[in-house]
Amino acid sequence: MDYIIWQLAALVILVVGIGLIGVLLSPKGRIETRREETGMQKKLYLVPLDDISRELVDYLGTKILGRFKFKINSGMIAKLPEESYNPERGGFFSSIILNKLQFLKASDDEYIVAVTDEDLFTPGTDYIISDSDRLGGVAIISTHRLRPEFYGLPQDNSTLRSRALKKLIYEIGHLLGLSNCEAKNCVMYSSKTIADMDSQSDRFCRRCRLELSIPIKVPKL
Ligand SMILES: [Zn+2]
Repeated sequence: MDYIIWQLAALVILVVGIGLIGVLLSPKGRIETRREETGMQKKLYLVPLDDISRELVDYLGTKILGRFKFKINSGMIAKLPEESYNPERGGFFSSIILNKLQFLKASDDEYIVAVTDEDLFTPGTDYIISDSDRLGGVAIISTHRLRPEFYGLPQDNSTLRSRALKKLIYEIGHLLGLSNCEAKNCVMYSSKTIADMDSQSDRFCRRCRLELSIPIKVPKL
């Protein structure tokens, strides 16, 4: 009787073992275990710069949780620096905001991505939707032109959230050293139109994922 029990136990161990090896070797298993993550133990602060962005920031925090190895923190609150506003342009100069955001960081192990509903610009552009300073480890996203109502369409929170998530992951990709990608479906593709953005994915393409797996990349100065 004991002999049969031992035989059964050995069979169960064998079946479970083969199953585990199968999961690890299967393409799906590899993808799931190789998440889009670097920067172990680093902190990412998602910072709303106005009241209207708070709910969206909370949502974005939950959506990227588990996709990166960052500790996600959305408890920091800040405001747009007044000096970044340009009345002639009717928008905020992103470089000034990025500079200010760096002062909120306690160490180089922290990244900050701020979100505002105000319109952003840089000299030489009519507007920008997002911007980042990789060496400073800071980025900013404007939802102003991500809202369907900006284009005369009905308000649609799920579309806004989807676009904001793509922009957030795009900027995190930049902070981690990725450049723009030519693959239209990749989240690192620099979409020229809102329709382009809607058709692209919120995932990194295979090539970008491979680049993210390189632990240290010297920034281009
Ligand atoms: Zn890519």
